[in-house]
Amino acid sequence: MTGPWRRETWRLAGVLAGSLFAGILVGQPVWGLLLGVGAYFGWHLWNVALLDAWLRGERSGRQMPDPGGIWGEVFLRIRALQKRNRKRKKKLTRMLERFRLSTNAIPDPTVVLDGANRIEWWNQAAAELLDLSHPHDVGQKITNLIRYPDFVAWLDGEHFDQPLEIPAPVDSRVTLSIRVVPYAKNQRLLVAQDVSRIRLVEQMRRDFIANVSHELRTPLTVIQGYLESLIDADDECSRRWRRELHNMEQQSARMATLVSDLLLLSRLETEGQATDHSPVDVPALLQMLLEDLQALSQGRHHISLEADRDLWLLGDREELRSAFSNLAYNAVHYTPEGGQIRLSWHADAEGAYFEVEDTGIGIDAPHIPRLTERFYRVDVGRSREIGGTGLGLAIVKHVLVRHRGELWISSEPGKGSRFTCAFPASRIVRQEEGREPVDGGGQPPPVTEP
Ligand code: ADP
Repeated sequence: MTGPWRRETWRLAGVLAGSLFAGILVGQPVWGLLLGVGAYFGWHLWNVALLDAWLRGERSGRQMPDPGGIWGEVFLRIRALQKRNRKRKKKLTRMLERFRLSTNAIPDPTVVLDGANRIEWWNQAAAELLDLSHPHDVGQKITNLIRYPDFVAWLDGEHFDQPLEIPAPVDSRVTLSIRVVPYAKNQRLLVAQDVSRIRLVEQMRRDFIANVSHELRTPLTVIQGYLESLIDADDECSRRWRRELHNMEQQSARMATLVSDLLLLSRLETEGQATDHSPVDVPALLQMLLEDLQALSQGRHHISLEADRDLWLLGDREELRSAFSNLAYNAVHYTPEGGQIRLSWHADAEGAYFEVEDTGIGIDAPHIPRLTERFYRVDVGRSREIGGTGLGLAIVKHVLVRHRGELWISSEPGKGSRFTCAFPASRIVRQEEGREPVDGGGQPPPVTEP
């Protein structure tokens, strides 16, 4: 038993003994005892009332009563507790203030949303760029304030692995890249980043490449023309320089391919998502590609094509031809003599797939994620030797982006590679047997064996 409780027990014992003694003196011991217990109980009640009054008036700085005994101890402890709480509150308030200042110092607009996308809090940058005002917008659904259909669909879709770019509500020239990070239970942090400068620099880079390529095309055509005339001339001079002239013609042809690839790439980049797509007879397109491949391979490879002849695709025929031929030509270029090359075109419930599989040199795993970067080559020397530009797979990627497709690559060095163009099922157009093709102009291809 602690000191105050021991003293309180003695006090109670004293009161009981005193009141019993007084009762005996007047010949009423029971009444004396009852009176003593009543007085003791009354004293406690009085102290409870004191405590209550003090706690009520505590905010207005009311003096703490000191009734002594166990109650004095209780008052002291409560006061110590209050002091501790006050200190904690101050610390918390200082922390909150520091947090508020630091979040306001973040240059990126940041908004806290609840599970139903209602706004709970935002920083200064969000107030400025997203046009939020306090307290009017607290509790509002963010989609009531930012009404771009893409943004509303993206937020409702709940797939936040990729950021979304939208114009800033206050200034459409500012491009914001929006990310949403779910945290805690049903809380989301929406962070926007001003990417206008990055987009501007990208646009300048695209324009520059497109302009340079455009400017190079005319002089290159002139040079090629003169070279051809010189080669055809069959006079003393051209006979003497034949080897050099052929070399020059080859190099200028390479440069022309590079320029046209660059132009195609910048066109694909600038045009974004294409909307004017029509059904493309992919089987017919692949049949033509097969013939080109056989001409390129000149019998050095076993080439086969398996195509679902009713499977057409909503898209741009020229772009698809360019993407498919880039993959197929690569298979010929990077497969040694005697190797197998298999083209296939099929569909399942999820989508349609164009696959090029070869038994060629293969690619080491670390290179695979970088293959679709412009000018990225595993072996620069080899790529140059076969007349590659290093732009083929970048073109494939952009064509697929424009068709809402994806490029899957799997490869093993020394064993071969598989490149798959996967298109969403929504792009599939099924042709009934015997119906005339509406695009591509080719006949349905037979399944070709090696
Ligand atoms: P390139 O014009 O050099 O072929 P691409 O963009 O078409 O450029 O391909 C990039 C690189 O990917 C190539 O340089 C090559 O190293 C590698 N590559 C592409 N296809 C294959 C393949 N079927 N087998 C092995 N390597 C390949």
